[in-house]
Amino acid sequence: MEKALIATAQAMNAAGLNKGTAGNLSCRLVREGREGFLITPTGMDYATLTPEDIPWVAVDRGESTGKRKPSSEWRFHRDLYAARPQVGAILHAHSPFAVSLACLRRDIPPFHYMIARFGGDSIRCAHYALFGTQALSDAAIAALKDRAACLLANHGMLVCGRDLKQAFALGVELESLCEQYWRASLLGEPVLLDAGEMAAVLEKFEGYGAE
Ligand code: 13P
Ligand code: ZN
Repeated sequence: MEKALIATAQAMNAAGLNKGTAGNLSCRLVREGREGFLITPTGMDYATLTPEDIPWVAVDRGESTGKRKPSSEWRFHRDLYAARPQVGAILHAHSPFAVSLACLRRDIPPFHYMIARFGGDSIRCAHYALFGTQALSDAAIAALKDRAACLLANHGMLVCGRDLKQAFALGVELESLCEQYWRASLLGEPVLLDAGEMAAVLEKFEGYGAE
């Protein structure tokens, strides 16, 4: 499991989702009957990570085991695993287009039908809060209501998936949507899909694909 986490974290850099030590990634792992998760260590370059560098954090009390300190954002990972039993992996990135839109502190409207991939007709931007705080976790949880992703104001993106593979795919998809929205906005005000059109997309996505 540690190896899969490291491989996906390194794939985030290769896909252009992250640079340096920005971002973090986790996956749910029950240990000795206790709910918990593996998470990237704080402030470490993903290129050099080995399985021994990966901390495990308990969901109930938030304490961690391992030789490294967990990501400074362990609180929003912990709170999401506690609140959403179906979530198996969480990705946070400072990807360029998501950050650019997050700096405008605006929700992404339904300019493209793929917005529905994240559960509704918008992707919200969470209120600003200092990185690594409970306030940021609370803001993210509110923005994620009925959604698999949100932006974090003046910070980045946050994505929940059923497993590492899906969290990574959704992260790539969200960055791509942010780029498309940015590009379209350069030419004018994108025409938005209406509530009926998005409801039809949401319905069509139920049971769509080979997942
Ligand atoms: P960590 O290295 O502690 O995970 O911090 C990176 C980050 O993106 C904080 O928001
Ligand atoms: Zn961050």
